[in-house]
Amino acid sequence: MNIDLSPEDTAFRDEVRAFLKDNLPAQVKRGAVSSPTVFVEPEIGQHWNDVLNAKGWLGYQWPQVVGGTGWSPVQRYLFEKECALAGAPNLTVLGLKLVAPVIYTFGTERQKALYLPRILSGEDYWCQGFSEPGSGSDLASLKTRAVRDGDRYIVNGSKIWTTHAHWANKIFCLVRTGTEGPKQAGISFLLVDMDQPGITVRPILTLAGDHEVNEVFFEDVSVPAEDLVGEEGQGWAIAKFLLENERGGSCHAPKLLYDLDQIVSAALDQPDGRGGILADDRDWKRRTARLRLRAQALEMIELKILSEVAKGRKPGPQTSVTKMLASNLRQDIDLLAVDLYGPAGLELDTARPLYGDNAPKPLETPESQVASARYLNSRAWTIFGGTNEVQATIIAKTVLNL
Ligand SMILES: Cc1cc2nc3c(=O)[nH]c(=O)nc-3n(C[C@H](O)[C@H](O)[C@H](O)COP(=O)(O)OP(=O)(O)OC[C@H]3O[C@@H](n4cnc5c(N)ncnc54)[C@H](O)[C@@H]3O)c2cc1C
Repeated sequence: MNIDLSPEDTAFRDEVRAFLKDNLPAQVKRGAVSSPTVFVEPEIGQHWNDVLNAKGWLGYQWPQVVGGTGWSPVQRYLFEKECALAGAPNLTVLGLKLVAPVIYTFGTERQKALYLPRILSGEDYWCQGFSEPGSGSDLASLKTRAVRDGDRYIVNGSKIWTTHAHWANKIFCLVRTGTEGPKQAGISFLLVDMDQPGITVRPILTLAGDHEVNEVFFEDVSVPAEDLVGEEGQGWAIAKFLLENERGGSCHAPKLLYDLDQIVSAALDQPDGRGGILADDRDWKRRTARLRLRAQALEMIELKILSEVAKGRKPGPQTSVTKMLASNLRQDIDLLAVDLYGPAGLELDTARPLYGDNAPKPLETPESQVASARYLNSRAWTIFGGTNEVQATIIAKTVLNL
């Protein structure tokens, strides 16, 4: 695997870097620093989306023919890396990276023409209706029912842990349309309008007090049959395609390394309690070096997957390896931040947002103020998108052939 950049890729990287320097708004960057959650608040996320969309870069993973950049996998990686290094927020993946590839890969011409531009413009904000009470890891056991009635489906049931459902006007759902044969065979993929009678959203507050996830209830919700994606019963195959994108659709290492660098720099100003600075402490150095090596190893694996994708191959089950390594690192780096700031790192402000005029004042810095909430929030990394145990099973079966 050759990881040297070609002159074209270097020029591309420099172009992205220059654009970010001039166009990443200060309040977006500030919002990213002070957001404890995986995705930033929509007002921050949408602001950043609008900047990228005006430049034509928002659909950076999409093919050109559907309104994307048509960039190569290496260019996409460089873009993500530069965004991480510039301190840009994570893009909210639900519309852009989860449902959009489903629509342009499996959708009808009508679905592509209608929904893809609305994702780029921000008119539609999507959430993901897969998990149900009792159907998380065992997703194929899901029970939310969609019954065909003429040219519509009538949907009844409930979804849980639905990220940003309280902001969304659209939800993509796995629903049961059949009960014959294996449970996977009776699942279909529906695009559903949230702004209609019969849909109720109830908040679930997470450990740090964030309102990020919800329960969503469906009571005789009417969905046009033309919003079925693919064939009836094809939902499981589409879900597997989507989950592969969710687990491996982005490179995690650049952001993890950026966060680690921020912590390492902050330690230069942090007293060690014995008259020195934390950055000189031997245990601290050992700990940060270990984390850096793990993040660099992850980056190598991500680049290897990328080089396979560049040859036209699918990312495949290796994305379970990167999802698991990245989730563990995320949690360990967030714990490092709590330890870095001492008592200020234990501050747990439950007011949201932690930026803007109404934000509570931090004990020390915006970074220390968010450390504890971020640590609590990142417990979810080893759960969402498939738990670590589920990833380990996939790796055992499909990567190691055990
Ligand atoms: C913050 C957050 C955001 C989320 N956002 C969304 C969203 O937007 N949309 C959505 O659809 N879902 C979302 N989820 C749900 C997530 O996908 C599920 O929580 C996850 O799949 C686990 O399912 P579960 O919670 O039902 O746990 P369970 O499946 O009940 O698992 C409980 C425990 O048992 C273990 N376990 C289960 N089965 C096995 C097995 N076969 N072998 C070994 N161990 C096993 C698990 O690893 C886990 O430790 C989100 C979850 C979180 C925490």
